[in-house]
Amino acid sequence: MAIPNVKRFRPFCPVCNDNFTLMAVLPTSANVDTYLNDAVARHDHKAFADSKAAMSKVRVGQQKQVKKK
Ligand SMILES: [Zn+2]
Repeated sequence: MAIPNVKRFRPFCPVCNDNFTLMAVLPTSANVDTYLNDAVARHDHKAFADSKAAMSKVRVGQQKQVKKK
């Protein structure tokens, strides 16, 4: 069952030079721009870079797993 109040954002982080995905429940009174600016300011760049590296490793690993018949 989906939680209707959760919104998905794709703010751009200039430090990582990439967009990152953010799931958040915002009160209707919240200012989205302020929230996203704050989220980018608090972005864990190291963890983001690590997860990106891990993801590309998985992709390379999957490409190498070619089934031989
Ligand atoms: Zn970042």
